[in-house]
Amino acid sequence: MLTRREFIKRCRDISLLMCGQTLLTRQLAHGFLQLAKAPPSIAFVHAQNCMGCTTSMMYGNDFDFLDFLGSVGNLDIHPALSFNQGGEYLARLDAICKEGNHLLVVEGSIPSDPPEACLLGDRPIYDVLADCAQKAKMVICSGSCASHGGIPASGGNQTGALSVGAYLEQKKIKVPLLQVPGCPVHPDHLMGSIAYITATGKLPPLKKETRLPEEYFGELLHNRCSRYQHFSQDKFVNNYAKDKNDCLLKKGCRGPVTASDCPVRRWNKRTSVCVESNTPCIGCMNSHWPFKSDLYLETAEVEDLPWSQMKQKTNSRR
Ligand code: SF4
Ligand code: SF4
Repeated sequence: MLTRREFIKRCRDISLLMCGQTLLTRQLAHGFLQLAKAPPSIAFVHAQNCMGCTTSMMYGNDFDFLDFLGSVGNLDIHPALSFNQGGEYLARLDAICKEGNHLLVVEGSIPSDPPEACLLGDRPIYDVLADCAQKAKMVICSGSCASHGGIPASGGNQTGALSVGAYLEQKKIKVPLLQVPGCPVHPDHLMGSIAYITATGKLPPLKKETRLPEEYFGELLHNRCSRYQHFSQDKFVNNYAKDKNDCLLKKGCRGPVTASDCPVRRWNKRTSVCVESNTPCIGCMNSHWPFKSDLYLETAEVEDLPWSQMKQKTNSRR
């Protein structure tokens, strides 16, 4: 049992995770008190995924994932983490989905052609997911494959892989949908979104014309990058070993066309982020990921662009 002080601290920490500096502690505390009476069931389903998002989820910056989900809801089943495995997992999934009002978290994209490319038990996930989503309170796409199709939908798309949104549209299922892209998903993005939904019963504020939480995807990565000052002074990396703090744009960095707060949130207990590790951003949270031709921005697109033109370009491609 949490003491009052511990409870308020927990609310404050989750509030920061969800809302950054816009503290909502009192509202959250109220929400969590309601939750204590009837915590929503949270059910995870895996489609065409690589387990990377599940692995990532386990490494939250400030929260232990399992402890966190236990505080804000009832982590009912997860195909890799819950005690219910195999037939027990399938039976519990069936029961939760029949009862309804659950939060359904999907990892991976949904194969449509052939649907048998991914089975859950002995049924195609293409059929199972419709049963799972029909009565769900909300569906949350964890990672880029569920959000936008991701790697299974790239190249020749041998399995007719669909994003969860495209799948629900094809099945004519109307349910509130949230996309939390990333390859893998950022644990804070997923946990913050789940916390917001469970505490308020609503989707978090969305970025205009998208299903993405504004809090995490509202701004271009480039604008918050630690190398931005070097970019504005036209100092670019030519030699990775020598120009360690310079801008990676001319090495193909997709920061100027990718919206995410990852340069300030960082990864692995705030240790670092791709651009700080001397690696250009490959835009894993971008809806076009993985890009058709090249992971990196084409050199011709960025070569000899003066600062003023680049600024225009980044604003228009947001
Ligand atoms: S182009 Fe990439 S490395 Fe350069 S400032 Fe933008 S995000 Fe940072
Ligand atoms: S910096 Fe780019 S590639 Fe790295 S996690 Fe963020 S969006 Fe993905």
